Amino acid sequence: MRLPSLSTLSLLSIAVGLSLASTAQAAKPPAPDLSNSQFQQCLDGLKNSSKFRGVDSYTFNNYRPSQPDPSVIQSLNYQPEFQKDVWDYLSSLVDKERVEDGIRAKRQWADTLRKIESRYGVKAEHVLGVWGVESNFGQTLGKKPLFESLATLSCFDRRQSYFQGEYANALKIVQNGDIAPSDMTGSWAGAFGQTQFMPSTFLELAVDFDGDGRRDLVNSVPDALASTANFLDKRGYRSGEPWGYEVKLPNGFWGASNRKDKKSISHWRNQGLTLANGSPLPSALDSAGLLLPAGPDGPAFLVGKNFDTFYSYNASENYALAIAHLSDLITREDSNKTDFVTAWPTDDPGISRQQSKEIQQALLNAGYDIGEVDGIIGDNTRIAIQQYQSSRGILPADGRAGQKFYRAIVGNTAATGNQYGQPANSRPLNPAPADRMGQLIQQQTSNPTSNAYSVQPSAQPTAIPSTSSSSNTRYRRVTNPDGTVKLVRVDEGS
Ligand code: CA
Repeated sequence: MRLPSLSTLSLLSIAVGLSLASTAQAAKPPAPDLSNSQFQQCLDGLKNSSKFRGVDSYTFNNYRPSQPDPSVIQSLNYQPEFQKDVWDYLSSLVDKERVEDGIRAKRQWADTLRKIESRYGVKAEHVLGVWGVESNFGQTLGKKPLFESLATLSCFDRRQSYFQGEYANALKIVQNGDIAPSDMTGSWAGAFGQTQFMPSTFLELAVDFDGDGRRDLVNSVPDALASTANFLDKRGYRSGEPWGYEVKLPNGFWGASNRKDKKSISHWRNQGLTLANGSPLPSALDSAGLLLPAGPDGPAFLVGKNFDTFYSYNASENYALAIAHLSDLITREDSNKTDFVTAWPTDDPGISRQQSKEIQQALLNAGYDIGEVDGIIGDNTRIAIQQYQSSRGILPADGRAGQKFYRAIVGNTAATGNQYGQPANSRPLNPAPADRMGQLIQQQTSNPTSNAYSVQPSAQPTAIPSTSSSSNTRYRRVTNPDGTVKLVRVDEGS
């Protein structure tokens, strides 16, 4: 899902898939007290404004909210309390579970994906990568009533003009009969469906691929997948090209991370770059830019135009890298090794969603209120981790859940010689130099252009954490196509 920035129509990401997967909202400002009479007056004005010219009065009145929803204004002004390292971000978004879900989805939707590939020229795994990162393959759609959210954002606080357009577009979608009104739920900012399109993106790019005459991105997987492919195609996707490669830099190489500075492959060969496994760079890309998400000591990538189309889906390089990496692992059908060839420059790598759940359960067992166990290390969980660390003298008490903290709290009796490898409630632990180094790296790599969570909304595109806190998480039951039932987290909390 995407919102334009303040100054331009470039896209500001507020992807629900991304933010549901990684953040929560304990650090929100207090809910504002919104005047309902002011709200109703505003709606009266909108009804007769030029932006709503295409919306008939029946539709406007029928879906007119009776009250504003202050929680969306909270979300609009939310600033994440903790920032995330790229390795934490990637390890929660591209874990064994998501790769396996993707491999299953590829088999289940093979015919549809083949047809989509021949119509739009977009590789099946690239479509799957977006689907997996945006909505966890259709499992995490967001549950806030869209008309209430968009009407509130249209009448209060920043960016009213933009949201007025999206509100009008959302009404037009229902008026056109594409989406059932009861399905018009999504993130706090109005992105909805399996593709997490904003209403304006929907009107521009959604397609009916199952042939029922409706563009139903909520209930129709073929419509959702084809709309994603159409999005990538219209943003400049090049058929048959890889997104890029993980590469190995030669010793002593010095170069800046600059995805946009595309050079020929022969240029990079001359610089001494190879594939990560040491093989020569293939010629499948005619030009590529260098991407160093964690600086020159971490994994390095050469990325082409198709990587840029992932980026345009949700303006964050880490987000695009998650799509790229997930799509590669689905292509390889290998869920056992989700790391890159080159390790991240940390001695404390990130954890999977499964490990996050185990940490949350251990915190609950230890008496910390983290809400529900949902596998999402949001602010509530991080605050609990910080308290746990402080109470036991684990330094730095940074609230971060990495492999070391996982071993410390979940307990790994096999771990020896590791300062964290002790059961909970043991004597206070002292910081080791390695951990200070980890902190240092964290500081060095937290640059706004490469870290989706360190950016101010008013500056660059950023992933504003969406909609949920771990203390008010809700689930819904979803029946999978194979008949199994799973609980799926929904973001009705804020
Ligand atoms: Ca359809």
